[in-house]
Amino acid sequence: MSYNEIFQHARASGRTLLTEVEAKAVLEEIGVPVTKTRLARSKEEAVRLAGELGYPVVLKIASADVVHKSDIGGVKLGLHSAEAVGAAYDEILANVKQAQPSARVDGVSVQNQARPGTEVVLGMSKDPQFGPVLMFGLGGILVEVLKDVAFRIVPLTKRDAAQMVREIKAYPVLEGYRGMEPAHIPSLEDTLLKLSEFAEQAPEVREMDLNPVLAYKDGLLAVDARIVLEDAG
Ligand code: ADP
Ligand code: MG
Repeated sequence: MSYNEIFQHARASGRTLLTEVEAKAVLEEIGVPVTKTRLARSKEEAVRLAGELGYPVVLKIASADVVHKSDIGGVKLGLHSAEAVGAAYDEILANVKQAQPSARVDGVSVQNQARPGTEVVLGMSKDPQFGPVLMFGLGGILVEVLKDVAFRIVPLTKRDAAQMVREIKAYPVLEGYRGMEPAHIPSLEDTLLKLSEFAEQAPEVREMDLNPVLAYKDGLLAVDARIVLEDAG
């Protein structure tokens, strides 16, 4: 399915929030690397998909009503066997039922577990005055508590992308602080430019949140993605 078809399908089902599986398909289409992610509608299907994708895998609740999946026990990492996948499937559904009984659940997403890297966040939101704006920062508390983030108005120039990555206070972490793996800066810049182009091409997208993207010395991988569409009409 192309991203236009994905948008139409979501709208037809009365949603403006794309599922993680849909959001990752959109990113893949625009050339942003993502972890291979499939939707399982039953425990048996989750086990089969895990076998197809190859272990270790991660299971996550798939629901357009759940915004922060890990906050309600909706994410299980590091699953190395069919038994672990089966147990995680049941636990996730039980956790969500307990924490958010009214959530409409599509099933559980099954995806490859990515190797550890530096967690960064890339986002797009719309400013009432300036229109689409891109955001870049380091994952976790650096973004949420310390607000160590860079913003630029779309369309981004190459120079904007280069500056965004370098102007956050945590930039030394990306250069490889104390033996940590450095991040491949050109991949980060390139992804910011791709998101900028996409924001221009697809004005029906209201918000994007790639949180986190794992940055490696030779590239990057988005492991969680959220896309919100504008209200129809
Ligand atoms: P949430 O909805 O809570 O943001 P995420 O999908 O971001 O859920 O998962 C929570 C955390 O689990 C991420 O911040 C990341 O550290 C880790 N994680 C998620 N997916 C993967 C994956 N495929 N491989 C490795 N780590 C992952
Ligand atoms: Mg996330």
